[in-house]
Amino acid sequence: MTSDSPASTDPDGRRTIMWFRRDLRLRDNPALLEACAEGAVLPLFVLDPHLWGPAGPSRRAYLAASLRALDAGLRALGAPGLQVVRGDPARRVPLAARAVGAARVHVAADFGPYGRRRDEAVERALGEAGVELVRTGSPYAVPPGEVVNGSGDHYRVFTPFYRAWQQQERPDPVPAPRHGAWVALEADTTGIPDPPLPPGLELPEAGEDATRDRWADFLEHRVDDYDEERNLPGTDGTSRMSVHLKYGEVHPRQLLADLARRRSTGAATYAKELGWREFYADVLWHQPRTAREYYKTQYANLAYDEPGELFAAWQEGRTGFPVVDAGMRQLRSVGWMHNRVRMITASFLVKDLHVEWQHGARHFLHWLADGDLASNNHGWQWVAGSGTDPSPFFRVFNPTGQGRKFDPDGSYVRRWVAELADPEQVPDPHEPSSEVRAAVGYPEPVVDHAEERREALARWERIR
Ligand SMILES: Cc1cc2nc3c(=O)[nH]c(=O)nc-3n(C[C@H](O)[C@H](O)[C@H](O)COP(=O)(O)OP(=O)(O)OC[C@H]3O[C@@H](n4cnc5c(N)ncnc54)[C@H](O)[C@@H]3O)c2cc1C
Repeated sequence: MTSDSPASTDPDGRRTIMWFRRDLRLRDNPALLEACAEGAVLPLFVLDPHLWGPAGPSRRAYLAASLRALDAGLRALGAPGLQVVRGDPARRVPLAARAVGAARVHVAADFGPYGRRRDEAVERALGEAGVELVRTGSPYAVPPGEVVNGSGDHYRVFTPFYRAWQQQERPDPVPAPRHGAWVALEADTTGIPDPPLPPGLELPEAGEDATRDRWADFLEHRVDDYDEERNLPGTDGTSRMSVHLKYGEVHPRQLLADLARRRSTGAATYAKELGWREFYADVLWHQPRTAREYYKTQYANLAYDEPGELFAAWQEGRTGFPVVDAGMRQLRSVGWMHNRVRMITASFLVKDLHVEWQHGARHFLHWLADGDLASNNHGWQWVAGSGTDPSPFFRVFNPTGQGRKFDPDGSYVRRWVAELADPEQVPDPHEPSSEVRAAVGYPEPVVDHAEERREALARWERIR
């Protein structure tokens, strides 16, 4: 069931598949180059209900926009566009291979717990039909599992991992294919989905061109000050690359290559942050159970409260703690939250409301466009004291103090908590008085932080 459009057959008549997953780009995509070198390429995307079903509105909408951008890029190369099918990849990929007569299916390796299981199932199903699954590259500068210590074991702490990771060889970025022969599916394609965007949710522009512009702007104007600015949520001091890395609209090796040319402290600090992304992927690869369970297992014995009305207040940004509410509202408005505020809001949930990190992690994954199992769930465990090299449990963030320290002029809080926006009505946005709260319709704090801090530490003492 192939379409033999003029662009579809290569001289030798060989057909192959490029199965796009978390690598939605044409530039610097080694798996795509491999496919193009082999024959006429079917550019395939499988809408997998297992991933699409639980994805929240931000990820669905962003993915759809990114697929549209990839489709446009493919068409500009002379391809018939991205071929989208829906269903279980273990069934759909072999069907597509049979339809076009492909002998190989090219992918970038996936190292997440589900991605690994899925790829093994697809590989088995393809194998039965005599078709090979070829893995070239991955979404990481160094594939998870490759950085090991002197005894061949994986690192459990970031700093030595990062040192060893820096020593690993990294291939240079590669160009986009200049031309190619392409092939399309004649039947069964569903087209790119067009999920509704909930009112009030605005996402960044998707696609590798938009990513490149955003990165160029960050490199030119902000990377050298990244060291100082990255902790201030009221400034535009971070790169906003997370969503683009999540969908592979850019590969980290390209970012690292550009950073290496800058030689500033800001650029070095930024490279280290990319190292955290790689570290968490590595930890998850070695210990897939930590996606749901405590890395430090004794923390499962800590006494937690069931999520109830206070959890709902946290989710909806009405806890009465301005910086917490600003973060939770930012999350729902733009599918992103500043890193410092991710830490503050997560700490508040675990240590002030005594709710287990998994509930918060699920809420984040529902709304974050950059929602990534490894970075999110290990970020949460870092805050909850149960992670690889966690913030010690006894270090409890004071949400008001954190707000004052990292949002000194209150611009972040005023931007996201409309009730506190007016400096005349609300002179101190981090600690408005009861009268001000009543006048502007902003809630009283739902808990007494000092009391809940004592409670958290008392619970922790019991498992020490
Ligand atoms: C509770 C919690 C949940 C998080 N959930 C996610 C998530 O789902 N997806 C996600 O990509 N990041 C997550 N992070 C990490 C971090 O908050 C985001 O990567 C960052 O805020 C994204 O914005 P940026 O691209 O402007 O970051 P920048 O400051 O510009 O950093 C550059 C890149 O480095 C990586 N990075 C930076 N900090 C971290 C970190 N602490 N851990 C891992 N990678 C990092 C990201 O890829 C980021 O895009 C989480 C952190 C916490 C504390």
